[in-house]
Amino acid sequence: MAEAGPSPARPRRTVLLAGEVDFDGFRQTARALLTEDAAPDEVEWAVADAASPGLFEDSGEASPERLDSGNGALLDAPSVTLPAPASPRVPAAFIELCRSVVLHRDPTRFARLYRLLWRLQREPALRHDTLDPEMAEARLMAQAVRREMHKMKAFVRFREVRPESEGPPLHVAWFEPEHHVVEAVAPFFMRRFAGMAWAILTPERCVRWDGKRLLLSPGASRQDAPAADAGESLWLTYYASIFNPARLKLRAMEKEMPRRYWVNLPEATLISGLAASAHERSDRMVEQAPTVPARRIPQMLAPAREPGAQAGASRLSMQSQRDAAASCRECPLGALATQTVWGEGPPGATLMLVGEQPGDQEDLQGRPFVGPAGQLLMRGLQQLGWPRDAVYITNAVKHFKYEPRGKRRIHKTPAQREADACLHWLEGEIELVAPMAIVALGATAARQLLGRPVAVTRERGQWLQRADGRQVLITLHPSALLRMEPADRDAAYAAWLRDLQAAAPFVSPVGDRENSGNDVGGDR
Ligand code: URA
Repeated sequence: MAEAGPSPARPRRTVLLAGEVDFDGFRQTARALLTEDAAPDEVEWAVADAASPGLFEDSGEASPERLDSGNGALLDAPSVTLPAPASPRVPAAFIELCRSVVLHRDPTRFARLYRLLWRLQREPALRHDTLDPEMAEARLMAQAVRREMHKMKAFVRFREVRPESEGPPLHVAWFEPEHHVVEAVAPFFMRRFAGMAWAILTPERCVRWDGKRLLLSPGASRQDAPAADAGESLWLTYYASIFNPARLKLRAMEKEMPRRYWVNLPEATLISGLAASAHERSDRMVEQAPTVPARRIPQMLAPAREPGAQAGASRLSMQSQRDAAASCRECPLGALATQTVWGEGPPGATLMLVGEQPGDQEDLQGRPFVGPAGQLLMRGLQQLGWPRDAVYITNAVKHFKYEPRGKRRIHKTPAQREADACLHWLEGEIELVAPMAIVALGATAARQLLGRPVAVTRERGQWLQRADGRQVLITLHPSALLRMEPADRDAAYAAWLRDLQAAAPFVSPVGDRENSGNDVGGDR
């Protein structure tokens, strides 16, 4: 290793970098110092204090490309005029390593990097030396930074703040990163939540996206971030419902989600309780009977339709359809399910919502959308101001398709032939309810309603026309939202509500239509 002792002939100098993540400043200054052959011990590295304008005063508008830019300056070196930077030889991989290490919170990081750069000029083999302690240390620092960036992407939780005046909501998150990663991760959130106004507050730096620009401002405190919102309780219910005690591996979970992040994760409040009862719950699960009831729910006999009956005709026909479907064996699914799950809603509903197929809870209760996906749908309808009983809700397939796994029944997407066998039941419901418009929740519903495959992510939010002239609005199935990465959920949910909002003109208030009160479909 080359010696880097102080040179008695030259004064020690201080480099003042523009900020904690001033990579460009470090790079330019280091290049100049190397050209001058300044030994590492001759140089001291310091970081200027960030100016502190108030929260969200625009202290710096930062386009994503500019986020880490800045200029280092040499201080205390009056006698030194830097030569125009020649190009010291630095491997590209080392520059990448520097980019990460600069984000580490260790205040000695710039000195360490400069020392390595200086050594690289003399020991070219150093770049391949995996055992060199200084190089190994730098790699560990880079790794810690990358891990922190990954954790920030995974564990930021936005909460919605509604402005007092009209205007779109702001989504605000509080996060406490261990390293200086906020600016580096901000472009990730900008791309992911481009259509939403958001802010991430941290003790050291805040970043805000207003739909057009990323704005940086000094740090904030936890009190500046909003408290839990109403939506959070739904996620907690969902989290608790999908928590499988038999699968709990606390150590692996803590590795993936270290405890220091728990303080800002709403779901973490549940973990200790769920973990504490995991053994007992999994023993209970093993002892418990499978969720498939031993006894099938008996079929009702179809009432005969009075010839020529007018009043309540649709009710009778709906009832007879429903009863006929109760014993349907046109595909193998009926033999495995607990019961047929028919649609429910008022006769003459002007809007129909179509899902894929009943899930475990729907199969047991005999009603559509009553499980976790149903709860999310109901929350959405409530936020849109649509009472559940103002719309007709049904599924493209009327039986639950699942795969038994231990004592659990795992949802399986219905095969095309199974969905096709069910199509006449769905078409029967459409004919009887005669909605003005239909919402297709997910690909299976869209495919069945339109008679062609639909790329939901591409065609969502659009109205497409059926052969019978009815308009079909395409959007995601609520369970697609539930399966998303937590960091994506809020924005995806907001986008989903915006899709659904397009169908608002077709929701007529309850009581406005003929025969209201005579629900067709499920017993409620
Ligand atoms: N998913 C559906 O598509 N329908 C339901 O009824 C429940 C979950």
